[in-house]
Amino acid sequence: MKLNGKMKEDEFKYVVEDFADLQILRYRVHGFEQLSLRQKKLVFYLSQAALEGRDILFDQNGEYNLRIRKLFESIYLHYKGNRDTAEFQQIVIYLKRLWFSNGIYHHYSCDKFVPGFSENYLKSVLESLDVSLVVSGKEETLEKVCDELFPVIFNPDILPKRVNQVDGEDLIQTSAANYYKGLTQQEAVDFYDKKKKGNDPEPVMYGMNSRLVKKNGQIYEQIWRVGGMYSAAIEKIVGWLEKAIDVAENDGQCEIIRLLIDFYRTGNLHVFDEYSIAWLKDTSSHVDFVNGFIESYGDPLGMKASWESIVDFKDVEATRRTEVISANAQWFEDHSPVDKRFKKEQVKGVSAKVITAAMLGGDLYPSSAIGINLPNSNWIRSVHGSKSVTIGNLTEAYNRAARGNGFREEFVYSKVELDLLNRYADITDDLHTDLHECLGHGSGRLLPGVDPDALKSYGSAIEEARADLFGLYYLPDRKLIELGLLPDSDAYKAEYYAYMMNGLMTQLVRIEPGRTLEEAHMRNRQLIARWALKHGEQERVVEMVRCNDKTYVRINDYEALRKLFGKLLSEIQRIKSEGDYEAARMLIEQYAVQIDPILHAEVLERYRRLHLSPYKGFINPLYTPVYGENGEITDVQVSYTEGYAEQMLRYSRDFANL
Ligand code: ZN
Repeated sequence: MKLNGKMKEDEFKYVVEDFADLQILRYRVHGFEQLSLRQKKLVFYLSQAALEGRDILFDQNGEYNLRIRKLFESIYLHYKGNRDTAEFQQIVIYLKRLWFSNGIYHHYSCDKFVPGFSENYLKSVLESLDVSLVVSGKEETLEKVCDELFPVIFNPDILPKRVNQVDGEDLIQTSAANYYKGLTQQEAVDFYDKKKKGNDPEPVMYGMNSRLVKKNGQIYEQIWRVGGMYSAAIEKIVGWLEKAIDVAENDGQCEIIRLLIDFYRTGNLHVFDEYSIAWLKDTSSHVDFVNGFIESYGDPLGMKASWESIVDFKDVEATRRTEVISANAQWFEDHSPVDKRFKKEQVKGVSAKVITAAMLGGDLYPSSAIGINLPNSNWIRSVHGSKSVTIGNLTEAYNRAARGNGFREEFVYSKVELDLLNRYADITDDLHTDLHECLGHGSGRLLPGVDPDALKSYGSAIEEARADLFGLYYLPDRKLIELGLLPDSDAYKAEYYAYMMNGLMTQLVRIEPGRTLEEAHMRNRQLIARWALKHGEQERVVEMVRCNDKTYVRINDYEALRKLFGKLLSEIQRIKSEGDYEAARMLIEQYAVQIDPILHAEVLERYRRLHLSPYKGFINPLYTPVYGENGEITDVQVSYTEGYAEQMLRYSRDFANL
């Protein structure tokens, strides 16, 4: 509803280009023109700050990344030979992938790229360039550059993985991420164990803003701050943040930015906590942003935080939707199929704010999350809460790009389901996400004395299943039509069909043959879909049918499927509330991990024939300030015409800080 009401069908091209396993999309910043001049300037300054840290992330993702990027950019810009050969095109693809992943490792699998060109060919291309283009001051000869970088690029045994998680190996020494140097995992763990004081109720996130190094027998941190490591980039970020203070929307926001600058100057983690608390409490500013060392997925030990940024402003209309849901949280809690003992007597819905992204940077660019829940500090979350947002215009771009690409036509059973999806899926998908975030995670309670970590490694898949099921159970409810969130009583079927098709089949396109499901969300989806398939078997609620040698999902009884979702929700809530580890393990291992290899092969083959890319990312809009006679900014204009390589090269040129 959000999309159809607000948008004209026009010429906006969401898909920019495809290469390797990637698709580049463009997102649209609805409502930017309607911002005040002051807000536009704020967005502009924060956007510049969002781009200044790009090189930091490249370096964090591997210590050779920046040098390799510069080398390939030189080739891209200056090679005068035949650019139409297959081998040269492989060089171009390598560079495009490197830009996408902010380094030479796949952004998702973390595996090092396998170049599609030979060492000899690369050497000959480099030799044809002016030597000053490929050799920086300290590396006097091309020979030396090749000796140092070629093994990193070509040898599959050298630094093969950005983040290694294989139990039993030294995760630091086997991971290429540039967060530790010259020490073992045990030494790093000991270093930080010593820092952690026994009973500190407000522990800072030790190590999150530094590289840990061992040199001459000494172990020390290189802090990422002004005057420390990455200083050149951080100074630029601070410069833009200072400008942003002058046009901030209110005193509270000024203070937030000031605290962030203070953190960047001192590296003091207590200041970062202060900043995080001030940031999460600010829900009134229209324009908002994240800028800093935030997520620790790139560190095998989960401590070091990669640099990222997003600039955004509130999507007022869509936020109203989540406010309606949240305001009715108690009704949903009271009417859920869960045992009374596991319900919250007083439940507070989370009013997830829907935002419009205006700029993505660092670890949110080009591949981005579509929702953010920060800060990550555990004690801050339990004492002060967190701020949760979903990014509406990125979801919109995903949906629009997927239209007409042949995917639904290939996998959906018949025209009936296809019509359902085309008619309702944009609305129901958003609504399911809202129910998941605003109600699902916050519903239910643990029985007294139950350890919140009792489900251990099965905990996160069970928790995601709980939130998904809460949303699935309520989608057909008349309440949603009464609240004006769904247009009619057929709409929910679109999400039911899409969910079952995804969980039973199509999400497998992201998994390589022979692998099992590991990621929590994927496990949760398969758990729900397979469980419902199995438990509705006798009544043939859902079936896998064969037609023209292809497998399809068919839903015969949508109302019965709702009952099954309700039943599983009640069981999953029991498992969570009682901390029933054994039941969690059984459910996950039985339904969520294994993949039928024959079906998997079929899905992959059908998907391959569509020539679609499983991973997507975004390029940013371009903001251009308009200057008045006295050099003051009188307007900021947004445009969407820049291409992928064009944008990457501009960033590499204008934000070359390291
Ligand atoms: Zn979730």
